[in-house]
Order: sequence, then structure tokens, then C-alpha cells
Amino acid sequence: MNTTKSEKLFEEAKEYIPGGVNSPVRAFRSVGGTPLFIKKGYGSKIEDVDGNEYVEYIGSWGPHLFGHNPDFIKDALIKSIEMGTSFGAPTELEVKMAKLISELVPSVQMVRMVNSGTEATMSAIRAARGYTKKEKFIKFEGCYHGHADYFLIKAGSGALTLGVPTSPGVTKGNAADTLLGDFNHIESIKKLVQSNKGEIAAVIIEPVAGNMGVIEMKKEFLKELKQICQEEKIVLIFDEVMTGFRVTSGGAQKLLGVEPDLTTFGKIIGAGLPVGAFGGKKEIMEMVAPSGPIYQAGTLSGNPLAMSAGYAALTYIKEHPEVYAILEEKSKYLEMGMKENLKKLGKNYALNRVASMMAMFFTERPVTDYEGAVSSNTELYGKYFHEMLKRGIYLAPAQFEAMFVSTAHTKDDLEKTVKAHYESIKAII
Ligand SMILES: *Cc1c(COP(=O)(O)O)cnc(C)c1O
Repeated sequence: MNTTKSEKLFEEAKEYIPGGVNSPVRAFRSVGGTPLFIKKGYGSKIEDVDGNEYVEYIGSWGPHLFGHNPDFIKDALIKSIEMGTSFGAPTELEVKMAKLISELVPSVQMVRMVNSGTEATMSAIRAARGYTKKEKFIKFEGCYHGHADYFLIKAGSGALTLGVPTSPGVTKGNAADTLLGDFNHIESIKKLVQSNKGEIAAVIIEPVAGNMGVIEMKKEFLKELKQICQEEKIVLIFDEVMTGFRVTSGGAQKLLGVEPDLTTFGKIIGAGLPVGAFGGKKEIMEMVAPSGPIYQAGTLSGNPLAMSAGYAALTYIKEHPEVYAILEEKSKYLEMGMKENLKKLGKNYALNRVASMMAMFFTERPVTDYEGAVSSNTELYGKYFHEMLKRGIYLAPAQFEAMFVSTAHTKDDLEKTVKAHYESIKAII
């Protein structure tokens, strides 16, 4: 059999990069086979180094709301690069960016730019701890908040896929400060609050869980969660690294109608460049250095290239509110097509969708919580993934990831996807 260019590159990569990749989920560990090395992306498609083209639904794991390399972002980047790449001093664009974020997400009265989602969430936890003078916090099983030590306790996404509930290298001390809640089950929170009275600084949650597949938060659960946080003086943090500017122009908080105390962003806010941000109530954010004593810093934070791409994306979102109706229409088409397929095939697999985030779970029980998500047959997902790939559709190489639809997906792409979905499921059951 001929070796592909991707296979050769992967062999070489494994010599010099742990596992051959710079982020674990890219390695195809849970679906088997060799990861594709990508040469370029355009619109809804990517091309690998062997010249194969795929319609894809990863969008760099969320950032590409408008597909790959749209002209208006490329133009903004080219203009910016002519002016220099980094100054380590304030720029006008940072002010414009902060104002625009605050306008689109009103609960964010002040914001600090960072360089990744991980930085955003760890800084938000520090701010909450510094503000409340308390140390413990609650996260939910199956939710992912980046790779800071104290988040790697039953985390979602790659950690869930690799079956590493708690990573080696995380100290007992760190683990002891992280309390685990059960997503969509308020009793679990009541218990934790009761047994850790006066010690909990924050609750951090993905307002639409997107790192254990896609799971919507129950309205009643959220209402009670918010109330408990208020009563107990716990800072409520929405991790909107994935959902921010994805599910609506104002994130999941606009969709759910609940304002958190702090919000974290990433992904779309950088339009494909390494960016994150955390922000929220002025009272809390003013305690961040240099206006307050809670230290937080970054050599490249607010980087002009990253800001120009992100600002172009958010400006487009502001000026084109129809973006979300277009995404809804495309995503609904896909959902309906896939549901129809499942019906024809006599399979009752759970298919969850919130706006342009979707996940099909290989389990026939409804998936509304962590337990439901992990009841999926991940081996079957691996087979499905490869059948889809054969048919030119590139999905996330793991069951517990979301499928993202972009404005660049055409009717043709969607039809092709629905057809491939039918054939793929048929081939593996
Ligand atoms: C992706 C993600 C993160 C981590 O962001 P990085 O930029 O990968 O560090 C944190 N929280 C959520 C909800 C995410 O989806």
C-alpha cells in the first residue's frame, strides 16, 4: 500500500512532538488511524497535504463562524501586519475591541484580553477567588475549561476522550479545591454548598455544554443555580469560550436570558488567531492589576494581529445580525436530514442541537447530562467518523466534541453531508 504524505509526516512528527501533535485530540487516538495534515482551508472546506478536499465541521474547534479565511478577516490581517506585529504598549484597537465586546455582551462591563481560552478561565477563577477571599470552586463533570491544573478534574473534551479523569501532575492540593457538580442536577450543587459553607468562591459552567457532545442547560437548573450563587456570594462564571458569539451575538447568556458575574471568551473572539478574554462586573474586574491587587499579565495580550482579526469578526457580527438566522437555517436543515436518516435506519441515536452546535451520540437514551453522554458507544463513533471521512466529510475525531456549522456551508455541502450520514450509519450497523 502506498504511504500518504500525511502518514509520512505523522511518523516524523512523533519523533519530535509528543504524540505527533500540539493538542491531543488532533491525534485521532479515539477513532484510530492517522491524522490528516492540512495544507489550506477555504470556506467550508479544507485540503490535506495529499490533495484531498473535505467539507468540514470542526472550524478549528469553533473559531471559524464564517468558514475558513473569509476575505474580510484576511484583509484586516494584511492591513495590520503592515503596521508591525506587536508593540507591548496599548493600541487604539484594544479600546475599540473592549467597547465592542461590552456592547454585544452587556454583562461584560470591563474586559481583559489574554491569549487563549485556558488563560481566560484560569484568570477568571483567580479574580473570583481574590474578590470573594474564598478558595474552592465548583465545576461540572464533563465540562472543559482549558488545561490549568485545577480544571483537569473530570474534564470534558480531550481529557474525557483519552479517559484521563485527573491528569498526573495535578497536586492533591489543587484537586481538593475543585468541587464536582453534576450538570443539570441542582441537588448536587445544593449538597456541595451545604458541605462547604462559606468556602466556595465560584461556580464555572459551560452555559451550553459543548465538550461532552452538546447538552443544553435546563432552564429550571440555571435559575436555581443563579439563585444559590447570589445567596451564598459565589461568583457565577459562564465559560463562553465556545458559545460566545456562536449561539447568538450575545453568547449563550443572551439565549438563556441569564447574566453571569464573569464571562470567559476565546475561539470566535480571535477569528482563528490565539485569543481569549475574561470580563464582567466592574466591581470584580477593577480588582485586577494594575487597577487592583489581583495579578494578571501577558507579553502578547491584546496583540494587534489577533485584535484586528477578532475585531473584524465581531464588527461583522454587529453589522449583520442575520448571520444567526442563516446559521440556524443551515443547522436545522442538517439536523432534520440526519433525524430523517436515523428514522429510516431504525436508530434512535440522541441528536442534540443548540443553534449551530450539534452532536449525535451513539446511544439511544436521551442525553441531558454527563451520565447520558458517556453512555455513548465511542467505538461505533470511530467507525462512523472514518465512513464519513471516506465520503469527503471531516468531523471531529472524537465522540465528545461538537459539530460546528458555519455561514460558508452551502446547500450542496449540507446535502452531501446528509447523504454521507445515511450511507455511513448504514455501513456500520
Ligand atoms: C476550547 C475551550 C477552552 C479552552 O480554550 P483554549 O484556547 O483551548 O485554551 C475553555 N473552555 C471551553 C468551554 C472551551 O470550549
